[in-house]
Amino acid sequence: MSTYGSHSWQADLAMERPPGALPLVHLIEKCTSCGDCVAVCPVYALLLDGAGLPYFVDKAACTKCGLCADICIHGGILLTEETARGLAAQKRNASDLKVIRA
Ligand code: SF4
Ligand code: SF4
Repeated sequence: MSTYGSHSWQADLAMERPPGALPLVHLIEKCTSCGDCVAVCPVYALLLDGAGLPYFVDKAACTKCGLCADICIHGGILLTEETARGLAAQKRNASDLKVIRA
C-alpha cells in the first residue's frame, strides 16, 4: 500500500464514485473526507471508503439529484449535465414549496 496525502491508496480503483466525481487521482487531491456528500444524499447511496473517499454503496438508488456535487465546496464532485438538471429540479421544487407555504 502506498499513500498520497492523507488518503490510503489501496484497491479503490474498482469502486464506483458519485456522478461527477473527479477521476480518482484528482479526487484524492481535492477530497477532505468531510463526509458532506454522504450526509446530503437523500437515498443513502454513498459512504466513505477506507481511504476517506465517497463511493457508491447503492448506485441503483441514485436519482442524479446533484446534491452531492452542490455541497462539495472542495471541488471533488462536479455537476454533470444530468446532475445539473437534477439539481435545477430540486431547486424548482423547493421554491414551489415556498410559494405554496407563503
Ligand atoms: S463533500 Fe467533497 S470533500 Fe467532502 S467527502 Fe464528499 S467529495 Fe470529499
Ligand atoms: S446525485 Fe443525489 S442521489 Fe446520487 S449520489 Fe449524489 S446525492 Fe445521492
